[in-house]
Amino acid sequence: MINVVKKMAIPTLSIVKGSYSVDTDAQNKKVSKTIDNLNADKQSLLELSNKLHSTLDLNNLITLFKLDVSPILNLDDVYYQAPDSNESFNVKGRHMVSYQLVLQKKNLGDIALVRRTRFNTKEQKFIEKILVALLSPLNNALDYQQAMSLALRDPLTGIYNRFAMDSMVSREIDLSQRNHAPLSMIALDIDFFKKVNDTYGHAFGDCVLKHLTECVKECTRTTDAMFRYGGEEFNLLLNNTELSGALELAERIRQHIEETPCVCNEHSINITASMGISVLNANDTQASFFKRADEALYQAKAAGRNQVIYQKSL
Ligand code: GH3
Ligand code: MG
Ligand code: MG
Repeated sequence: MINVVKKMAIPTLSIVKGSYSVDTDAQNKKVSKTIDNLNADKQSLLELSNKLHSTLDLNNLITLFKLDVSPILNLDDVYYQAPDSNESFNVKGRHMVSYQLVLQKKNLGDIALVRRTRFNTKEQKFIEKILVALLSPLNNALDYQQAMSLALRDPLTGIYNRFAMDSMVSREIDLSQRNHAPLSMIALDIDFFKKVNDTYGHAFGDCVLKHLTECVKECTRTTDAMFRYGGEEFNLLLNNTELSGALELAERIRQHIEETPCVCNEHSINITASMGISVLNANDTQASFFKRADEALYQAKAAGRNQVIYQKSL
């Protein structure tokens, strides 16, 4: 029978009075011998807390926690789920204790400790004490992760920004060259966007940018990355996509944008966009790959806008 303890909030750091003991000797002993030592002193709890505070990386943090706690409780695994995760722990055939981690009313996610044998009451009390040491470092790691994620996103549209594009294009080029997989790029620019701003105002222009983002998302796969390169210019990075696929997708996007009215407040308008395509070749650098797509976009503008052009070489 599996022993699953109902999820419960654990106390915040400020009201902790327990003690905790994980000295190296205890770690080296078998669980059966250390189980009686599941009392914890403040000094050890502080040491664990200091250790956990040494990283802001979520995965590293959980790994550090796991390395410290697993030998004492003979755990098979420690699972963590961030607050926005919808998954549930898959621990078939094993015993688990799981907790919702809460720090000053802020949900920090869920943690599950898993092993083959049942957890007794003393062990559960011990776990609740040591989890307290995880709360503050976990809170910092989550804040850090959120800050990093915001730094890579365009606040208006929510898609990746130019900063994110630089590192992601570089990584995708490496992967493509290593795996001999095709990689394509679409540069997209809204046609006569200045006129939209001038006619309907900047706020409406912002709405058009969000609308365009949605139109593109409706046509793309989850593996396609979309970036706002600047103003009304966007880039799409299509892994495992050769020329025919990129052309087909760009044309589908172009049509979808043309046919879908942008409705915002009392106005409804139709916009169009021009696109340039490049496909990574063996001699490409990040700059030349990007430049070809940009050059093709320029040609699409010059040829009358609302069209897709592929640039084979510069
Ligand atoms: P073209 O067809 O040649 O691309 O013409 P265009 O008018 O779209 O291009 P242009 O470069 O002349 O104008 C781009 C405009 O985009 C000018 C700028 O005010 C506007 N813009 C840039 N960023 C934003 C933004 O975040 N919000 C809004 N509303 N407008 C923006
Ligand atoms: Mg434009
Ligand atoms: Mg432009």
